[in-house]
Amino acid sequence: MQTVKVAICFHQDLRSLLSLGMRDHAIIEHTIHRQASIKDIIEALQIPHPEIGALLVQGKPVDFTYKVCDGDRVEVQPLMAPVNLCQPSLLRPEPLPRIRFMTDANVARLGSLLRMAGLDTLCPKGLDDAEIAVQAVRQECILLSRDRGLLKRKIISHGHLVRSEEPKKQLAEVIKLYGLQEQITPFSRCMHCNGLLKPVAKKDIIQSLEPLTRTYYQTFFRCPDCAKIYWSGSHKSGMNRLLSAALSTT
Ligand SMILES: [Zn+2]
Repeated sequence: MQTVKVAICFHQDLRSLLSLGMRDHAIIEHTIHRQASIKDIIEALQIPHPEIGALLVQGKPVDFTYKVCDGDRVEVQPLMAPVNLCQPSLLRPEPLPRIRFMTDANVARLGSLLRMAGLDTLCPKGLDDAEIAVQAVRQECILLSRDRGLLKRKIISHGHLVRSEEPKKQLAEVIKLYGLQEQITPFSRCMHCNGLLKPVAKKDIIQSLEPLTRTYYQTFFRCPDCAKIYWSGSHKSGMNRLLSAALSTT
C-alpha cells in the first residue's frame, strides 16, 4: 500500500476550524495510505471546500483535483474579504452571474436580515440537505450554513460556513466577507418571499389597510409576488438601527 506524507499549512482563519488537537500547529504532518485528492484530504480535516480561497503545492497554485504526492508542502488559504465570486478562479472556474444567497434552516434569522438589507436571499423550507444543495446549485446561490456536512457536498461550489452564532453578527460577517457594504438597499425586498418591492398608491390599497395605518401613513410598497403591503412604521427605525450596527462592524 502506498504511503504518502504531506505537510499542510492552514491560514489562521481556517486553523480555527480544525479539531482542537491540531489548531495550535502551524504545519500539520499528515499521512495517508491511498491516493487522494487535495480536496478530500482537507475535508477529512473538517474544513469544507467552499471555505478555501487558494491551494498552493510547493508554492504553485493547484485546483481541488490535484492528487497529493509524497513530500508535498501544501498551503491552504481562506477566501479573502472582499470575495468576488462573480470572477472565475482556479478553484471556481464557473463564476456566479450575480450575488444571491441561500440560507440553511440553522441560519434562518440571517436569511431574514439579508432580505431586510435588500440582498437577494432564498430561504427554502422543508428541504433535506441533499435537496438544499441541489437548489443552491440550480439557483446559482452562495449557500450559507453552520452545517459543515452540507457545505462539504461535492456539488456545492459557492458557500460559507457561518462562524458567528448571533444573527446580527452573522449579517455583519456576510456583508464583510463579500464586500457588500455598497449594495445594501434596506427595505427593498419582501421579507416573506424575497420579491422586489414596488411603490403602490395609497388609494389602490386603502381597502386592505387597518384604520390606524390608513390614518397615519401615506407611503406604501407592495410585493408583486405575494401582494404583501409594507409601510414606514415604527419597526423601520429599529431595523435601520440594526443595519447601521451591522455595517459599523464591517
Ligand atoms: Zn412577497
